[in-house]
Amino acid sequence: MNTSGTRPASVTVSAPGKINVSLQVGPLRPDGYHAVASVYLALDLREDVTAAAAPRPGITVCVEGGGPLQIPVDGIPLGPDNLVARAAAALAAHAGIADPAVELTITKRVPVAGGMGGGSADAAAALLACNLLWGTGLDAAELRALAAGLGADVPFALAGGAAVGLGVGDLLTEVPAETPLHWVLVASSGSGLSTPAVYGRLDALRAEAEAVGAAAAPEPDAADPRVLEALRTGNAAALAGVITNDLQPAALSLAPELEQVLQRGRALGALAGIVSGSGPTLAFLAADAGSAARLEAALRSEGHNALAVHGPVAGAQPTASKT
Ligand code: ATP
Repeated sequence: MNTSGTRPASVTVSAPGKINVSLQVGPLRPDGYHAVASVYLALDLREDVTAAAAPRPGITVCVEGGGPLQIPVDGIPLGPDNLVARAAAALAAHAGIADPAVELTITKRVPVAGGMGGGSADAAAALLACNLLWGTGLDAAELRALAAGLGADVPFALAGGAAVGLGVGDLLTEVPAETPLHWVLVASSGSGLSTPAVYGRLDALRAEAEAVGAAAAPEPDAADPRVLEALRTGNAAALAGVITNDLQPAALSLAPELEQVLQRGRALGALAGIVSGSGPTLAFLAADAGSAARLEAALRSEGHNALAVHGPVAGAQPTASKT
């Protein structure tokens, strides 16, 4: 609990977007989920969520867009379906707050439905911001448990850094990654891709392949050790040879125009390019910061919405508090 006796009027928390530098996806389970072995990397493209005490009970949501990728925010739900509202409601229920009164403002910089876990970052930020605003004093383990109930990627947005995610991606083990890796993101100019639709297409593509004799996808139970070693040593060239995303064929089948952009990024000097998570955002690995800046400029000059970023960076953390 807050022991100072004074509660802040508002708290702002920043949380990172992510890419999966390796994403192995198992077969569809009877419960409708897929087991994954994911290697997450938190990037310095961050969401801010401000939780402000409201005069009347209720959880209200407001979204401001823009940021370096000029993310449009229309289409994001502003009601109880927004992940920040769900996070605040989950914390209030856990802490026994019957009538939570909070205004949540999201500053959105991560592409919406872009495969970078932007909504998950918002949920993680909202959990931490409301925990501080309300003085509910949940510890890290309690916040992690609430985060996992909100979505598979939410625990990683809380933790940040680099991590292996098993289960549905929520069973995290931190991975050492001291040296920053430099990437260039390309946000899609079209609408996003629905994560369930991409998984559905993966299942359909696999069923077609199995019908003509392909082996079923194995259950992923560990991350690729070559990926972990490349992260540990910060060796971008080695990482380029082993980054992989089982969702990529499904995302490319739903958004075939991405294939050409992947080829352009590689032709312009990227060490490797990959669909981020369920897409459609693309992530190109660069040799160093200078190469990333040049690649960003070259892709922008060809009309792509590109941004140089780096990771790993910290997970959700408070950046401002007003009394
Ligand atoms: P995933 O974490 O599954 O990879 P994503 O990064 O592809 O998701 P998000 O931007 O997190 O996509 O959101 C996916 C959908 O969730 C959106 O299309 C939107 O309808 C809904 N949504 C709910 N809350 C939010 C939020 N705070 N920000 C963005 N989308 C949200």
